Amino acid sequence: MSLFDKYAPLQTRLDMMMKIGQDALGVKFDNILSATRGRIGNRDILLAGTNNYLGLTFDEDCMTAAKKAVDDHGTGTTGSRVANGTYSEHTDLERELADHLGMPSCVVFTTGYQTNLAAISGLAGDKDVIFMDADAHACIIDGTRLTNASTIRFRHNSPEDLDKRLKRQGEIEGGNALVVIEGMYSMFGDIAPIDEFLDVTHRHGGYLYIDEAHSYGVFGPTGCGIAEEQGVLDKVDFISGTFSKSLASVGGFCASRHPEFEVLRKVMRPYMFTASATPSNICAALAAVEKVKSGKHLRDNLKARAAQLHKGLSEMQYDLCAEASPVIAIRRPNEGVAAAEWNWLIENGVYVNLAVPPGTPQSSSLLRISLSAAHTEADIKQLLKAFGDLKDNQGAILQSMMGRLQAAE
Ligand code: PMP
Repeated sequence: MSLFDKYAPLQTRLDMMMKIGQDALGVKFDNILSATRGRIGNRDILLAGTNNYLGLTFDEDCMTAAKKAVDDHGTGTTGSRVANGTYSEHTDLERELADHLGMPSCVVFTTGYQTNLAAISGLAGDKDVIFMDADAHACIIDGTRLTNASTIRFRHNSPEDLDKRLKRQGEIEGGNALVVIEGMYSMFGDIAPIDEFLDVTHRHGGYLYIDEAHSYGVFGPTGCGIAEEQGVLDKVDFISGTFSKSLASVGGFCASRHPEFEVLRKVMRPYMFTASATPSNICAALAAVEKVKSGKHLRDNLKARAAQLHKGLSEMQYDLCAEASPVIAIRRPNEGVAAAEWNWLIENGVYVNLAVPPGTPQSSSLLRISLSAAHTEADIKQLLKAFGDLKDNQGAILQSMMGRLQAAE
């Protein structure tokens, strides 16, 4: 028995994917030309699966800030936030984000993933109880694994189910309840009723933590996210987010209305024991926060493009997972069909995400589209044409898939 034998079932699954086409978990872009255009091999591709919600990766001010940061401070910090890795730009960014969210405390981390690992494991001690949405992202789940706090999952997007479980839990002796949800969920693009979650959580004396990774920059009058959109931002206990989507960089943040959150800088292991974000990442994000604050026109365009695409796909009778939002996921009957169609879309100049279990809710197989404010009306027409052609060619696509699988046997 080798160390790798346990991965035999996974290898079989990957082999099947490779027979159908290319490795969906290993796509290589040979060139990225703009927020919406790239090249795979010698093929021009419309990018519609990059989480680049505001299209700022090629914004001139963000690019200039990143380049200047390299000139001013070099390419890396070579140390952790608690040693030599805190530069004035890291604390400037923390101040900017705290001011934007109207919260007294904000901590910046090296990635969004590490943000949730650090903040959730730091906040919840042995005697606390974490209540987590059933569709929580991997880094929320992993955060709960870094602490001895017990974890209870409640039905996705159901404040009623949370209420029931909090009631059943009763008084937590020597500890508190930490409720963790997301603003917009990454796979289906569905949105949490934060106002209702706040009501339930606070009624039971708990704290509400919201991961707005996919919603910061995208929702709310000034882009603070779903909590701002629903008018309850000032009541939320913790907001986390990432720089890798609307902020067009790499890194993450957690802000709190509790100034005591600052003390966690001295205990959060994924903050203390890893190198800090590079100067160029931090300065690009700093420039991007300014764009978010004044980005109503970007959000308006994103909303209009999402409505255009959602309407068009609905008219084609595609099975969509949620109402119109910048993430539009199409449910496919199984992994094989989804993989065949995903490959066909790339061959026809369109990149979306292939999302399959275990990373998806309800074990669904999805073609997941994420839109950008940089997409034009014409880009959405191109996407709709591709999905229309996909429908027209479904028989041939499935036949070709079967042929490829048989030929490889
Ligand atoms: N939270 C959610 C909901 C996410 O979807 C992701 C990544 N897609 C993260 C956190 C982690 O962010 P990052 O990729 O910036 O580490």
